[in-house]
Amino acid sequence: MDCIFCKIIAGEIPSTKVYEDDKVYAFKDINPMAPVHILVIPKEHICCANKIDETNSHYVAAIFEAIPKIAKEAGLEGGYRIISNCGPDADQTVLHLHFHILGGKKLPSKLV
Ligand code: 5GP
Ligand code: ZN
Repeated sequence: MDCIFCKIIAGEIPSTKVYEDDKVYAFKDINPMAPVHILVIPKEHICCANKIDETNSHYVAAIFEAIPKIAKEAGLEGGYRIISNCGPDADQTVLHLHFHILGGKKLPSKLV
């Protein structure tokens, strides 16, 4: 499958790993939008939030169990923002489900 993030999980494309377990991989975004910008992804290919269902939601649970550990390790005591873009209206550019963790400074104004 021609998916950048599947290739990153497989080690075929290099990445700066910050966390890994049996279901979750997390790495630094190549184009950081904040001092800390980490992408957290499932090790199974799920294209986006629209494709989360009862067969794969345990990956999403594992991601959200990992996020506090990742945030602590990254020194995000002041808080952080989690974003997942889904589909063209949200400008999703990589079609493998991912959660952006953004922090390390007071973040700019938000949509919601
Ligand atoms: P999206 O726009 O789909 O929500 O976010 C995709 C993110 O993946 C972007 O923030 C982009 O910088 C990041 N990205 C795209 N290709 C690569 C890559 O090869 N390596 C890393 N580390 N990040 C990538
Ligand atoms: Zn993939």
